[in-house]
Formats: sequence, C-alpha cells, structure tokens
Amino acid sequence: MLHNPGRLPFNVTYFAGTACGEIAESKADDALMPASDYKRHELLGEGTFGKVYKGEVVATGRAVAIKKLLKVSSRKEGVELATLREIMLLQELVHENVIELVEVLCAHGGISLVFEYCVTDLEAIVKDRDVLLDAARIKGYMLGTLRGVAYCHDCWVLHRDLKPGNLLLSAEGVVKVADFGLARCYGSPERKYTGQVVTRWYRAPELLFGAKFYGRSVDLWSAGAILAELLLRVPFLPGNSDIEQLSRVFTARGTPTEATWPGVSSLPDYIPFQPQPGRPLRELFSAASDETLSLLDGLLTLDPGARLTARAALAHPYFVTEAPPPAPPAELAPRAKDGSGALAMHQEQKPR
Ligand code: AMP
Repeated sequence: MLHNPGRLPFNVTYFAGTACGEIAESKADDALMPASDYKRHELLGEGTFGKVYKGEVVATGRAVAIKKLLKVSSRKEGVELATLREIMLLQELVHENVIELVEVLCAHGGISLVFEYCVTDLEAIVKDRDVLLDAARIKGYMLGTLRGVAYCHDCWVLHRDLKPGNLLLSAEGVVKVADFGLARCYGSPERKYTGQVVTRWYRAPELLFGAKFYGRSVDLWSAGAILAELLLRVPFLPGNSDIEQLSRVFTARGTPTEATWPGVSSLPDYIPFQPQPGRPLRELFSAASDETLSLLDGLLTLDPGARLTARAALAHPYFVTEAPPPAPPAELAPRAKDGSGALAMHQEQKPR
C-alpha cells in the first residue's frame, strides 16, 4: 500500500503571489519557468491533461520535461482528479523503470509537473523502420516494461493506460513507465472502479464488457498487446469501436464461454458473440520463438483470473532461460540517423 496517501507531495515548490488551485492564463507562459529554476524550451507533445515542454534545470543543466497542467480551477471534473492522482501516486513510486517526478511547481495559479527527460517512446520506436527490433531488443523493452509494472503492482498502483506511447525511453535506453493520469491505488478486490480506462487497442476484454471490479490483470493484457505490437510493428488489435475491439479480440483469441472464462456472461455489458475458435498464435506471429508465444498466450488470456501476473511474467522462461537474453539498456538506446542523438518522439495522438 502507499505509505501515506494523505500527505502533501514532498517536492512541491510554491511561488510568491500565486495560488495553487486557481490557474489564470499567464504572460509567464512564454517566459522562463517560475523562480527561474527551470528554463523552458520547445513543446514536446500534448497529452489529455496538458502540454509538455522540454526544459532544463538552470543550476545543473539537467534536461527535464515540464508538464503544464490544464486549468485546475475549471469545473471539468477529472482534470483535478487526474492531476492529483498523478502527483500523489508518482511521489511514492521510485523505481528505475518508472518515470521520476522531479518536482511539482505551483506558480501563477497553475501547476506544472517536472519529470526526468526521456528521448523517445516505444510507439516511435515501433514506427521507425530504421530501428532494428530483434528478439533481444524486444525482450529488453518488455523486461523494463514489466519490471516497472510489477513494481507499481507491488505498491498497489494500477496504471490503467499502458500503451507504447506511455513507455518512454531515457537516453541511456532505460524504459520508463509514464503518464499516471489514469492510474489509481487499489486494495480491496471489492472496490468498484470506472470501466472507462485504457486506450481501446490495449483494453482488456473484461473492461470492454463493462467490469467495475477489476485488478492488476488489466495492465497485463495491455502488456500482451504491447509485446504483440513490438513483434508485428503495427498495433495488434486496432478496433474502431468497443464492439469491433471485442470482435477482433475474439477472432484472435477465441470467443469466451462460461467454461473458459467463469463469470463472463454476468459482466454488466456482456453480449454474446458468434462462437469462434481463435487463431493459433503461431499463425499470427510466424517468426516468434516458442517461449515468446507462451508468454504472449499467458498475457493475452481472456479470463483475467487466469492471466499472468507481472511477477509471473518476469519469471517466465522467455526472460529467464531462453536465448537470446534481453538486450541491455545500452543497446536499447535509440540513435539518430546522423549518430548524434535520439529519435524524435511521436506527436500525433491516437483515438482513445
Ligand atoms: P502525456 O501528457 O504524459 O501523455 O505527455 C504528452 C507527450 O509529451 C508525450 O506523448 C511525449 O511526447 C511527451 N512527454 C511526456 N513526458 C515526457 C518526458 N518525461 N520526457 C520527454 N517527453 C515527454
């Protein structure tokens, strides 16, 4: 469990003449960051909850990413909640494979989150055909991802929005699980949660059927969809609607029955689908090793109760005994074509 979920974030910096919680558009937007501790550079991207800029710690020159959050005083419920969630959860999570929240800035009535800077993400890597994704590198990316996820789960945090674009890569090639805007703490298996989480292509079937009681297994389905995407270099199950998503899932994995997934027909939005046997993973991933397919099968198991946990996935022979071993971070670090630096991050947004 998180140690002290009620306390204020530790690295919060307030600035004179400003009030946390009420954001007015400020002339400071285009100037230096508050107190001149940080310099703000170019826009890196825009997420659901605000713009992200590249920045620099003036004193040390350390590169950072500054997420300037949308108005927290707006009446839109969810913005504040997401903001607070991200701050409260991330301040407690300290792990090599989880993005570091360096500081929380409250200035000019607005909130900015300062993160360690990452050079790219797995979505950009998958899309760049000049990047070689061999078995060792895929294993290296999955190892970092699952270590980060396993740590979050050990801390009773569900990420709930795992996808290649939220798996950032540091200049050293270390995978960082990022964007905790939809994350939440869980404890009791009886706790009721919203089903509107996880970008559709990575959404577990129990969520698509409207489950309100779910757990860590939703993140493991997403991890399976991410492994499939690393192998195929295109999204594995790109549904255009929730129904089409379910249909794609069952075409690939077979239509569930009460025998293969006990309780499925009692889920709130359950509707029966045409029975299908599913396609052998060997047919869909012809070049993958047996252990890769076995891990994929365990992660993309329809019944959440039978799906692999993150710790079980890390102990799978795919990581432990099968050759090649996972590529070390130094081999996962992206290189620009001129050899000078990193690949560009993607800018486009996928449909939720
Ligand atoms: P988010 O709001 O977290 O989805 O971030 C929006 C975009 O900002 C991402 O797609 C990235 O392109 C970029 N971004 C977010 N966090 C970082 C970071 N720590 N380092 C570099 N770029 C980032």
